[in-house]
Amino acid sequence: MRQVRSANTTPEKKVRSLLHRLGFRFRLHRQDLPGKPDIVLPKHASVVFVHGCFWHRHPGCPRATIPATHQDYWLPKFKRTVERDKRNQIELRRLGWRVAVVWECELRDLDQLAKRLTIAIAGGPVPYSKNVSVVQMAAEPHPGFGSGQNKRVSADTD
Ligand SMILES: [Zn+2]
Repeated sequence: MRQVRSANTTPEKKVRSLLHRLGFRFRLHRQDLPGKPDIVLPKHASVVFVHGCFWHRHPGCPRATIPATHQDYWLPKFKRTVERDKRNQIELRRLGWRVAVVWECELRDLDQLAKRLTIAIAGGPVPYSKNVSVVQMAAEPHPGFGSGQNKRVSADTD
């Protein structure tokens, strides 16, 4: 067997094909959204980032090693990446999007990832701000959902 990895085996493409098998419809790389999410699911007001464990510092992951040399170079670089990811996610949530991050190492167990992603994209609570009570949540959509092209999401449409 040849060991050549085709383009179809990149983590992002694996996640796309998984989502496709799960019946989700999506768009790619919306340039107008913070952080340019890898996958956008407008129907569910969800975005998915596929993150490499090393570059994006998957917490507690054995792949998120710290190089032994040139740490004065690596550490600030890692810090900037993590901070940028965090800012983008906060901004996306503020705009009314659910944000799911798939870590590269999760691709080892696609069944587990499928369950988690389905909940993260379609089954989890919509991203209301934390200080809104449950009663208010049921009564009115998040203000962020009124803006732009995002569709409103209600928990019982799917
Ligand atoms: Zn990892």
